[in-house]
Amino acid sequence: MLNVGAHPPCQHTMPDEAADQSALRLAAGPAARYDPLMHPPRDSTDADVAIVGGGPAGLMAAIAAAERRRRVTLFEQLDRPGAKLLASGGGRCNLTNTLNESAFMARFGRNGRFMQPALAAMGSKRLRAFFARLGVPTACRDGLHVYPASDSAVTVQSALWRRCRELGVRVLLGARVSDLWLEGGRLAGLVAGPQRFRAGRVVLATGGAGYPDLGGGRSGYDLAARTGHRIVEPSAALAPLRLAQSWPRRCAGVGLAAARVWIDLPGQPRAGVTGELLVTHSGLSGPAVLDLSGQVAVLLRDHNPVPLRVDLSPGVSADQWLARFEEWSVRQGRRIVRVLLSGHLPRRLAEVICEQAGLAPQAPAATLARGQRRALAELLTGLPVTVTATGGFERAMVTRGGVSLKDVDPRTLASRRLGGLFIAGELLDLDGPCGGFNLQWAFASGWLAGSNAAGRDEQE
Ligand SMILES: Cc1cc2nc3c(=O)[nH]c(=O)nc-3n(C[C@H](O)[C@H](O)[C@H](O)COP(=O)(O)OP(=O)(O)OC[C@H]3O[C@@H](n4cnc5c(N)ncnc54)[C@H](O)[C@@H]3O)c2cc1C
Repeated sequence: MLNVGAHPPCQHTMPDEAADQSALRLAAGPAARYDPLMHPPRDSTDADVAIVGGGPAGLMAAIAAAERRRRVTLFEQLDRPGAKLLASGGGRCNLTNTLNESAFMARFGRNGRFMQPALAAMGSKRLRAFFARLGVPTACRDGLHVYPASDSAVTVQSALWRRCRELGVRVLLGARVSDLWLEGGRLAGLVAGPQRFRAGRVVLATGGAGYPDLGGGRSGYDLAARTGHRIVEPSAALAPLRLAQSWPRRCAGVGLAAARVWIDLPGQPRAGVTGELLVTHSGLSGPAVLDLSGQVAVLLRDHNPVPLRVDLSPGVSADQWLARFEEWSVRQGRRIVRVLLSGHLPRRLAEVICEQAGLAPQAPAATLARGQRRALAELLTGLPVTVTATGGFERAMVTRGGVSLKDVDPRTLASRRLGGLFIAGELLDLDGPCGGFNLQWAFASGWLAGSNAAGRDEQE
């Protein structure tokens, strides 16, 4: 652990320059780690507000509390803050979107309304203004998704880090919090390594269980559960899906700009999800599949495998395909169906569809039998695939489930179970689809939790 008690101010050896990530790692390298043998256990009166987790929620909470002149210490188990933030949006960081508050909340399902006070405090417009003030202007090029104008997640992470430093936030890297410290049933601080840290208020912002190499894990759930919070069973969301079929291996890397994917089980909406689709060597990915994956993961618990259907060309109905085949047979009868189909689909996918419809590789359009036309039209508008597993937490960009919203006050994000504790970000039972939803929630909830953690103490 970096700089626990022994060297108070040197946590801020992080670089000024956004792009200098190697220096960032160096500053927090193993040589600087805390050695428990050299520093025996003792109590430390450290902070008004302690933040657990240095992701977007934790960094925002730290800034909000420090701007209210509180002494803030942030604990991050990795040797760098914001590891997921840096990886977000393929390194470009889709940090929010332009939806209004109600449309935004609706995309989180039944729990969405819980977010209202946080969005009122730090919604999309305020967030963009906040980052502009920190020297990170944002851009929205498609009318929906908002990225830093630099198209670089590093600028976002560095700006947050710089602001923490300006405000005197003490950041401890390589500092894994193992417990909350209670005295007579009241929150007194936390435990990291062999040391207890006294803090009037604690913000838990440890994120979800996905991507363990970027800091994902169960520790936040354990900390919350040990202090009486109910946990909605976490499962992988925004994860790729593995299929029983072998054809994806042949099509790995193939993408469709738009496909509609739905769960082919009774009671599941046929509308499904429409968006980009990507074939991987073991199955499917891309926003359409990622957005459906949370639901699939839950179904897989009792229903394995889960059947899906994929409409490879939403907007073209089966009847329209049949009309197209008729036209091909009349006007282009000598041309090979597989080649004609490649005009509408990636070539390798067209081959798979023709094979599944029972066509010979060189079958000309004029020879298409009625049954084959029907089979082709059905496959194109509802290709059946079978999901055997998701990419699991290893590949889950967010986690479904988490600390029950019943145990947290949405107006302040204060725990209803333990006074002085606040909970923010993905650790809570909220997950959104692809498109800047999850980062917006992390920023907004971190801001609200940090602002309230900085508020007047009942004991003051
Ligand atoms: C590859 C990838 C791409 C993504 N792209 C996008 C995107 O473009 N847009 C979008 O909106 N969302 C995206 N997301 C989701 C988004 O990054 C997360 O929802 C968001 O980072 C959650 O923020 P958080 O602060 O709650 O948690 P995290 O970012 O997970 O931060 C939690 C931090 O707490 C630390 N921690 C955990 N336990 C402890 C402990 N016991 N003690 C000390 N520290 C601890 C972790 O190391 C971690 O740094 C992406 C996620 C991934 C994995």
